[in-house]
Amino acid sequence: MADRIDLHTHSTASDGTLSPAELVRAAAEAGLDVVAITDHDTTDGWQPALRALPSGLRLVRGAELSCRWYGEQPPVPLHLLAYLFDPDAPELVAELARVRTARVARGERIVALLRADGVDVSWPEVLAGAAGGTIGRPHIAQALIRAGLVASTTEAFGPDWLGVRYRLPKEDIDVFHAVRLVRAAGGVPVFAHPRASRRGRIVPDELIAELAAVGLVGLEADHEDHSPDERAHVHGLAAELGLLVTGSSDFHGTHKSVRLGAFTTEAEAYERLVAASSGVTEVASG
Ligand code: AMP
Ligand code: ZN
Ligand code: FE
Ligand code: FE
Repeated sequence: MADRIDLHTHSTASDGTLSPAELVRAAAEAGLDVVAITDHDTTDGWQPALRALPSGLRLVRGAELSCRWYGEQPPVPLHLLAYLFDPDAPELVAELARVRTARVARGERIVALLRADGVDVSWPEVLAGAAGGTIGRPHIAQALIRAGLVASTTEAFGPDWLGVRYRLPKEDIDVFHAVRLVRAAGGVPVFAHPRASRRGRIVPDELIAELAAVGLVGLEADHEDHSPDERAHVHGLAAELGLLVTGSSDFHGTHKSVRLGAFTTEAEAYERLVAASSGVTEVASG
């Protein structure tokens, strides 16, 4: 059974820097046995990744859904990984399209705010940088870097820039609705980096218990945005709630420093994940 399993990566279909074909080749070169492609709010990378799948590598088709929990004011944004769901399930397709459209409007508004303050970035340039992928703040970060205003993506996500001052909310999917839609599409929902407090507000464990009751299957524990204590906490919570645990790189190419396979998922958890799915199958190349 495969043992190097990375269940969270991004391609140019969202805010990564490798094309889906380059991503699966890089995954094979990194020695992975299983890789999941989980672009933000899109399945556009699935076909090109499949077509380029190197022999010996298994591909898990997935996505990372932009969600929100309305239990606090203001509502808390969070990410839900969804694996092996039917990409034609109408309600889910409609929600993803709505979120992607809203991301474009939000990106344009962020650029307008920057320009109003005299910052020399342009919306056409940001759009061109995204090259048809789901628009996100990393694309605006790249424009800030090109303009010489910040030195790194990390700096661009600081409080003076996209982290606070020029941060606008997205139109996300209610997280309970998202869990139900993913399950209805035969998919497996896993809460991405649930304790990543360094990224912003996090949700209480009670919410995770409620999500488990409506169909959440797993928690991503081993992730670079979790401290060792946070990782241990997520492992403990998963055991308590009977959820499976994943580990993954959340690779974004050169938009982040993390490498493919930096964190991995145990084979047993992976088998449980595949067994829980009925949307599409994992694919092994011949
Ligand atoms: P958005 O989806 O437009 O809100 O942008 C969020 C994306 O930016 C996430 O997918 C992260 O990969 C990336 N991101 C968030 N915080 C940081 C950070 N501090 N440094 C680099 N990338 C980040
Ligand atoms: Zn991203
Ligand atoms: Fe995420
Ligand atoms: Fe991600």
